[in-house]
Amino acid sequence: MYTLVFATNNQHKVEEIQSLVGNDFHIIALKEAGIDIDIPEPHDNLKDNAAEKARTIHSLTKQNCFSEDTGLEIDFLKGAPGVKSARYAGDDRNFQANIDKVLAELILTENRTAQFRTVICLIWENKEYYFEGVCKGAITKQMHGAKGFGYDPIFIPETANKSFAEMNMQEKNNYSHRQKAVTQLFSFLKSL
Ligand code: IMP
Repeated sequence: MYTLVFATNNQHKVEEIQSLVGNDFHIIALKEAGIDIDIPEPHDNLKDNAAEKARTIHSLTKQNCFSEDTGLEIDFLKGAPGVKSARYAGDDRNFQANIDKVLAELILTENRTAQFRTVICLIWENKEYYFEGVCKGAITKQMHGAKGFGYDPIFIPETANKSFAEMNMQEKNNYSHRQKAVTQLFSFLKSL
């Protein structure tokens, strides 16, 4: 079994990804790796932020590791909140405040198409590799469901009839941006 450090403090993401990879890989989050830092996300695009996170953790652990950066890109808002998804309503990264801000900005429009996009940066044997996953869908007019995290209660994937927050993890994985990027990551690792 290979061990991979996942450069995140978000336990939801660790569980989602571990549920996808089964027993072939052991995913260790930062806490488990003994690292207690808030990794900066200073760049204006997902790829550079993912690279920054992976490089930071690689330099601290010297272990194979990966990071991911995800944004919700809303067409009516010209791609916002995008790379600023976590801090859209302020630096305290409050999920409810972020949702309220998005719903307020879309209140007068029927144009509600959006997508989640995930970029993964893998550092494997000192080389960098990138993977991307997209989930197209729409922003609801009010919140639905209480599972998941972030913008899950207001996002319905294109071919689904309920929000991410109304799905259990397996259902969400059938559509999820992160699942698509992670599937590519692990098929790559298995092909090595
Ligand atoms: P991060 O910077 O990659 O951690 O993600 C930025 C923000 O996007 C998070 O704080 C969440 O608000 C949101 N986000 C990321 N992935 C998801 C998801 O799968 N569902 C809902 N919101 C998400």
